[in-house]
Amino acid sequence: MKPRILLIYTGGTIGMMKDPETWALKSFNFEELLLHIPELRQLDCEISTISYTHPIDSSNMNLKSWQRLGEMIHERYDDFDGFVVLHGSDTMAYTGSALSFMFENLTKPIILTGSQLPIGDLRTDAKENLITTIQLASQIQNGRPIIREVCIYFEYQLYRANRTAKVSADHFEAFMSPNYPPLAISGVHLNIDQNLLWQGTFDEFAFAKANQPQLPEDEYKMFYRPDFVNDVVILKLFPGITPEVVNAICNIPELKGIVLETYGSGNAPSEQWFVDAMKRTLDKGVYIVNVTQCRGGAVDMGKYETSVQLKAIGMVSGKDMTTETALAKMMYLLNYTTTLADFKHYFEKSLRGEVTE
Ligand code: ASP
Repeated sequence: MKPRILLIYTGGTIGMMKDPETWALKSFNFEELLLHIPELRQLDCEISTISYTHPIDSSNMNLKSWQRLGEMIHERYDDFDGFVVLHGSDTMAYTGSALSFMFENLTKPIILTGSQLPIGDLRTDAKENLITTIQLASQIQNGRPIIREVCIYFEYQLYRANRTAKVSADHFEAFMSPNYPPLAISGVHLNIDQNLLWQGTFDEFAFAKANQPQLPEDEYKMFYRPDFVNDVVILKLFPGITPEVVNAICNIPELKGIVLETYGSGNAPSEQWFVDAMKRTLDKGVYIVNVTQCRGGAVDMGKYETSVQLKAIGMVSGKDMTTETALAKMMYLLNYTTTLADFKHYFEKSLRGEVTE
């Protein structure tokens, strides 16, 4: 039997055309997308399609749209061998990270792709991205999908989604995965490095076990966790940041978490007002995670004097997580953990391969 692939269209450039009057890019009927790629019929799989009723630019993604996407996959999980999500590239790294946490113990691929040029454009990158993504999603070995994680495929590379960031607004090579190698490279051959693929870890299952106590030890199934908390903020440090700005952010009513983008290996101003503001915020129960503004490398609190105090006051380390993943993971764990100790434990551990331990 041929692998069954569900192609989900959420919106984005890949399915856009120019409005003849304003020349602005807007979404068009998904059925037309398939008309533009008759080559899809040559693929050795059965493709079904489904679309958001109103496709959106990915800048309009929010928790509700993540959930809608999650639902579309979850409701049809048993009917397909793989899922391909067409999504705008702007927030694809955030959605990919969120999906990776939403689907615990994933047994099938969910691969997001999009394009920098619309499918109808003569020089479009959409066709290669879409065709290769479908091929990757339909790779089966010994009766089960080879890829069992959430990925992004863009411009000849398959990445673990929760390791990616969008780094270019106009190059076809729009994504990078600074701290984890590509899982597959598409050249003359489609080379999947099976050693790099996600196999699940003790911590993923420990978390599953703590949260699915009703199941016997060997029966942890794919588990769908769609509820995220968005009372969070990303605070990016910059030279000259004032106490007024930091305090205003820390005093946002109902705030539950801050992703603090620090310098280098996790460094922040050592001025007393800053450390006091962080401590006050932690003391009132707001979780703060430290991620680096650098595209590559990791937070290592305590390495420099300027991060010793952050460690001492109980800040959680984002290690080599991207900001996009740290945000999604925080939104996820805020809902699925109850104590700071639990939050810190799971945040600093790899649940879906998002962090190097
Ligand atoms: N603004 C578009 C979006 O993210 C860009 C793209 O599709 O690549 O939806």
